[in-house]
Amino acid sequence: MERYEYGIIGGGPAGYTAGMCLAKNGHSVILFEKDKLGGTCLNRGCIPTKSFLHSSEIYAQIMTSDKIGVHIDDFSFDFSKVVEKKDTTVERVRKSLELAVKNSGVKTVYAKACIKDKNTILTESEEYKVDNIIIASGSKPKELSGLKFDGEFILSSDDILNIKELPKSVLIIGSGAIGLEWARIFSNFGVEVSIVEAAEHLLPLADTEVSKRVERIFKQKKVKFYLQNTVSEIKGRTVILKTGEEISPDFVLSAVGREPVKPDCPCETILGDACGEIQLAHYAIHQAQQFASKVPFDKNLTPSVIYGEPEIAWAGLREQDIDESYKKVMLPVTALGKAWCDDATDGFIKLIIKDNLIYGAHIVSKEASSLIHTVLAFMQNKIKIEDIKQICFAHPTYSEGIFDILAGL
Ligand SMILES: Cc1cc2nc3c(=O)[nH]c(=O)nc-3n(C[C@H](O)[C@H](O)[C@H](O)COP(=O)(O)OP(=O)(O)OC[C@H]3O[C@@H](n4cnc5c(N)ncnc54)[C@H](O)[C@@H]3O)c2cc1C
Repeated sequence: MERYEYGIIGGGPAGYTAGMCLAKNGHSVILFEKDKLGGTCLNRGCIPTKSFLHSSEIYAQIMTSDKIGVHIDDFSFDFSKVVEKKDTTVERVRKSLELAVKNSGVKTVYAKACIKDKNTILTESEEYKVDNIIIASGSKPKELSGLKFDGEFILSSDDILNIKELPKSVLIIGSGAIGLEWARIFSNFGVEVSIVEAAEHLLPLADTEVSKRVERIFKQKKVKFYLQNTVSEIKGRTVILKTGEEISPDFVLSAVGREPVKPDCPCETILGDACGEIQLAHYAIHQAQQFASKVPFDKNLTPSVIYGEPEIAWAGLREQDIDESYKKVMLPVTALGKAWCDDATDGFIKLIIKDNLIYGAHIVSKEASSLIHTVLAFMQNKIKIEDIKQICFAHPTYSEGIFDILAGL
């Protein structure tokens, strides 16, 4: 029986990154995946949602294109094509991932794996000997008590990928990244959206000023939200909130977080969502890279991004984390010519500064998902504001907003 140096359970971002890095470093690796390579991120998470979001944004732009002088009198909409485009995108990305994993020398076994002992992994039909076991088995949608997923009225973020047509109205429980991105997708398509959030603000993990801006944007888009509220009861297809409001949506998306999936056995190395730490694909990737290739990374500088218009991105310290020794500086994106050209003037760039260094960045703006990396590079490398001022930022761009803020200091 062939013996491998590493046996990895789970072929999502954590598992395939660890596998490819270890193989590149000369180790023999066997990877077990019970479903499809790419895990939640590629098959049920990051990629499919961004594909839906893209279609919905184009739809929303067409609906309002008159105001920029583009008159579209006749257009049709076919949700099945939106789904087909999402499926094609996922399949294409998966094919190139499968090829990359194969070319790296990792052996992939498509089967559910369980651990027999610290050197033995079992599938239904075979036994494999390994020197080390890595668990990268990911996470699954969390269920609230009294709100069991039924795939029909109460949906998880997995179930929602199976809808065949757009609802007229939807109630989303939870306003983290998943809840907000789906709220944006549905709202762009003209679906009536309501959100219930237990915390004081939408997007509770964000900087409070970011949360408040998101609330303002959602109000403008007629997305209803109920803060510091929960579902107390469901009667038939009517949802009754703690505060008594009754909502009768076509269905409910329950997006209240994810819980780790871990085999019930001791294992020293657990990577990605299965750890229950930061449940993001790039965190899983960098954690795996740190483990397999000893590339250090500072988990406190893991960026968060919420996609849609405008994008929301942040890293480092937030308003609620700082004391008066920090200074906050802010630029509304209305100050940027590019934002006016793009008709994307709602948002801001906010930096948290101390001793000539940046400690936090909070961006609500078109291109925020790219902008955040510019600031991250400054933060991680402790580049002084005086040195950043020497960089020539192109005009007109959103990036020059970073320069404009710092130039004013
Ligand atoms: C709707 C949604 C949108 C998201 N959007 C983003 C985003 O935009 N950006 C971002 O960074 N993150 C996003 N995420 C989170 C991201 O998907 C996860 O953080 C990431 O997939 C974690 O990677 P992982 O490898 O730890 O786990 P997973 O991707 O969950 O992979 C685990 C794999 O292990 C396999 N497995 C489990 N048990 C076994 C077993 N016993 N035997 C064999 N195989 C097994 C599973 O089938 C799965 O393929 C999103 C998640 C969701 C649900």
